[in-house]
Amino acid sequence: MIQRDQFWERPNWLFCMLLPLFHFASVKLTFFCAVTPENVVVVWLPNAVLLAALLRFRGQRAPLLAALTFSSDVLANLPVFPWYEAILLSVVNLLEVVFTYQLMRRSGASFRLQRLQDLIKFILSGPVAGALLAGLMAAFVLQKAGGVTTSYFTLARLWWFGDGLGLLIYTPLLLAFTHPSQQPLKLTRLDDLALALTLILATAVLSAHGGEIDGVSVTPTLLMPAAAVIAFRFGPRLTTLFVALVSLSTAMMMTTGLKPFGDVPIHLETVRAQEFILTLCMVGIGFAVLLNELQTRERELENRVRERTRELEVSNRALATMSITDSLTGIANRRRFDEILAAEWSRARRGKQALTLAMLDVDLFKQYNDNYGHQAGDEALCRVAEALTAHIRRSGDFVARYGGEEFAIISQSNAEDQSLEMASMVCRSVEDLALPHETSPFDVLTVSVGVAVITPDEGDAIASFLKAADTALYRAKQLGRNRVEQADVGMMI
Ligand code: GH3
Ligand code: MG
Ligand code: MG
Repeated sequence: MIQRDQFWERPNWLFCMLLPLFHFASVKLTFFCAVTPENVVVVWLPNAVLLAALLRFRGQRAPLLAALTFSSDVLANLPVFPWYEAILLSVVNLLEVVFTYQLMRRSGASFRLQRLQDLIKFILSGPVAGALLAGLMAAFVLQKAGGVTTSYFTLARLWWFGDGLGLLIYTPLLLAFTHPSQQPLKLTRLDDLALALTLILATAVLSAHGGEIDGVSVTPTLLMPAAAVIAFRFGPRLTTLFVALVSLSTAMMMTTGLKPFGDVPIHLETVRAQEFILTLCMVGIGFAVLLNELQTRERELENRVRERTRELEVSNRALATMSITDSLTGIANRRRFDEILAAEWSRARRGKQALTLAMLDVDLFKQYNDNYGHQAGDEALCRVAEALTAHIRRSGDFVARYGGEEFAIISQSNAEDQSLEMASMVCRSVEDLALPHETSPFDVLTVSVGVAVITPDEGDAIASFLKAADTALYRAKQLGRNRVEQADVGMMI
């Protein structure tokens, strides 16, 4: 399956066509709402367009993308500045973005800005370092080439903050909207209430004049808690959108003379606006990214716990199987035999049904070992176990290795002749294996079987039942081996 990230690894021709148009639209948007009549830029968005494109595509086709936005930048500057100054200022913008991108690459930041440490690296590289560098260069260009008389540091500071805030607002927004959303939104009633309150507050702020309504102070600062709430509930994507909308609306209130921070001189108003936007970004975007990171970590931790639990369950099951399995033959062991016998005993007693126990012992096995070796003895035991397993697969009986060269079968056959028939079949099936046994009178490996059948009553004990089967087995040995003997019922009582 093609991942969306892989699919977008290189910017395609459509993207390259749209990029300068989008850049140009961002210049127009900036001039429309973030440049005061005195020509002071509150926030400069367009540089974030190239930066977001470089980050989004991890620097793929960087020269082409840079050339496209540079051309758009020069075109946008030409009506405002002489051609040489327009070119120089566009070079400054380009250097700012390239410098920021390189700093971010070297810092090892993840370009999706989803962790707090990545956001901090971005802020240090772009809004702090990149924009400052651009501010210092642009102030020089404006003074030397443009003949602007404002002091160098005032110019540099205005440019720095304008560019820095533009990067801070617009880059996370563009990145958030070019990556697929991770979680669908589910609005609760409280969310509805919070959104309604935010809308009312925003309307109040937008309709205020000089930062007040009828003498009551209503400045954009009132929207700060809303940014935190949106970050808390709706994640980075909608928070970046909210922060951008509030920032641009604030800038627009300034450019339309609404004076959102009171009747103060333009340079002071710009500083206040920029400080407000900076705080809004820190609270909103910072909080959203931090929460997002915490949630991602929590999800990762939950997944890890789930994975470990699953592994534990698997190994527990394996352990449980091991604890009831005989390691040589792979059939049930003595522990399992004891459990099953106790359970079947109770069931038979409750249901007043018969229970059959057959004890098997390999004949002359010591001689077999002596003659063919212990390893051959082990293999012979496995073959006997296989023959018994084949029998229980057909009958639904239970077979276990009782110990050494002894096996046991528990059966629910409820008539004595049926039990004897079962025991004879098992005895025959081992003989039919035809495992050569030179020193045996039968020439092949055989087993002797002792069978006991009981319909257990209150007074009966399992131990007596076992003893009866064992005694029958002893008798089978006495009477010549490779045969079945049935327990004397009277013995069990
Ligand atoms: P009988 O017909 O009277 O049962 O004679 P027997 O030789 O089978 O009986 P005895 O009890 O004298 O010997 C049992 C032998 O079974 C001795 C022991 O070495 C062997 N044996 C028990 N467990 C194992 C095992 O796991 N592997 C192997 N190879 N031999 C085993
Ligand atoms: Mg034995
Ligand atoms: Mg034996």
